[in-house]
Amino acid sequence: MEKRLEESRRIIAIATVGDADPGVVAHLHGVIEEAFCRGIVDAPALPLPKGAHRSSRGRWLATDLLDAVAAARSQSWERILGVAEVDLFVPDLNFVFGVADASRSAAIMSLARLVARADPERTLRRAATEAVHELGHAYGLGHCRDARCVMWFSNTLAETDRKGSQFCARHAAALRRADAGA
Ligand SMILES: [Zn+2]
Ligand SMILES: [Zn+2]
Repeated sequence: MEKRLEESRRIIAIATVGDADPGVVAHLHGVIEEAFCRGIVDAPALPLPKGAHRSSRGRWLATDLLDAVAAARSQSWERILGVAEVDLFVPDLNFVFGVADASRSAAIMSLARLVARADPERTLRRAATEAVHELGHAYGLGHCRDARCVMWFSNTLAETDRKGSQFCARHAAALRRADAGA
């Protein structure tokens, strides 16, 4: 009984980093709650970290944002997801939709490349897919060879649109195992 009570308190926090469309962030609450069976809370908004912008790239260093998000995680939150609107990159990749670190239970994603101006529903679907993907990494999941699994590595929005936000059977099982071990 006590264990069940403890489990019912498992929380994923969502933090806006800089600006992020509040309508999209609100939508992510429901998506993440359903995908991970967790309670969702709004973490206090974080400023964009000073020095994370690289004018030579015209983008923001994703790992700097991830550091800020990881540092903001309360011990009572099982995982934390930061949502930003600035375009992100890492040194090895021209751009990234997001990055995550399972060892720090944290992830960051950006809406910058996900917005479909003529189709707000599509923007929400893409944001859901990216949020579940990065949090999947934060729970220790790797990439998938099934192009319809949310853990497929997308290089393009066409791939993001194709894969959707569902886990394949193998990854759903891996998530349940991660859960049992948590
Ligand atoms: Zn990935
Ligand atoms: Zn998979």
